[in-house]
Amino acid sequence: MKKQVIDLRSDTVTRPSRGMLDAMFAAKVGDDVFGDDPTVIALETKAAVLFGMEAALFCPSGTMTNQIAVKVHTRPGDEVICDAGAHVYTYEGGGIAFNSGASVRVIQGDRGRITMEQVASCVNPTDIHFPVSRLVVAENTSNRGGGSYYDQQELERISLFCREHSLRFHLDGARFFNAMIATGNDPLQTGKLFDSISICLSKGLGAPVGSVLLGTGEFIHQARRVRKVLGGAMRQAGYLAAAGIFALDHHINRLEEDHDRAKRIGRLLEACPFVTQVVPIETNILVFTLSGMMPDVEFLNYLKEEGILALGFGPQTIRMVTHLDITEPMVGRLAEVLKNCQM
Ligand SMILES: *Cc1c(COP(=O)(O)O)cnc(C)c1O
Repeated sequence: MKKQVIDLRSDTVTRPSRGMLDAMFAAKVGDDVFGDDPTVIALETKAAVLFGMEAALFCPSGTMTNQIAVKVHTRPGDEVICDAGAHVYTYEGGGIAFNSGASVRVIQGDRGRITMEQVASCVNPTDIHFPVSRLVVAENTSNRGGGSYYDQQELERISLFCREHSLRFHLDGARFFNAMIATGNDPLQTGKLFDSISICLSKGLGAPVGSVLLGTGEFIHQARRVRKVLGGAMRQAGYLAAAGIFALDHHINRLEEDHDRAKRIGRLLEACPFVTQVVPIETNILVFTLSGMMPDVEFLNYLKEEGILALGFGPQTIRMVTHLDITEPMVGRLAEVLKNCQM
């Protein structure tokens, strides 16, 4: 009998549910490059209203929404300030340099979270020797930080500082809804703090494709132009937008289950003699380190033979992510496999 694969590599591996597929099949579509796909417009409107932002733009990926934001906010030679492990800097193929010709000043944040004081210390004086500090990016939740989320007050402080110093403030909210569920914060409060926000529909929300960029009407107007240049303008994209609408309607509140399962998996890992540290679990991401007795490659192979997939996340460091397609029996199976793991 073939074992069912338990894929904990990322929350991007989910497959559309029956309900989501039905919504996609039933979508009314048009040509979104001509601006007449009603389902894309419905998704963009829904997302904008949710955050109290003026306008929104549906894009193929979160990399594209982040990169468009950087491009619209900056001019070549400007400087972007973000955490050293930020997705926009670390995992987007050097896109800030490639697309925008901007430089980056990195901050050593606390598990991906930066403070107002750290931002302040990175702002360059007005002097022709220095790049112009232009944009601050915060990531919530933080991917490299192991799903850590911000204290809303810190985001408010950074936002205020940015306004006072003519800096733009972008939120990489690929997993914003995980932070929202964990904190109970209202998206309208978040919308007030940022000049632009990117949210992913294809992470914990379970859509197959897509991210949404939010901002002012003028910002989104410019963003639409950049999306076209990057080749991200799509035609009957309403089939994909329908999945996004379904995800926003049905898959936000259930993130709580993912967080609960992540915490329980964390306890299983803490009980393993070969696990030296489990990074505190705040949402749906687990990052843990293995002792020298358990080489990471061997551990990953052992799991793989048992039909469990996890991700190498640095030397002797492993990442697991819970999501929509991880079920209760799968957690039970993982518990068994971990218990039987020989050192
Ligand atoms: C996944 C992710 C993105 C976007 O990734 P895509 O794969 O391009 O959709 C952006 N930021 C963070 C923090 C992410 O985890």
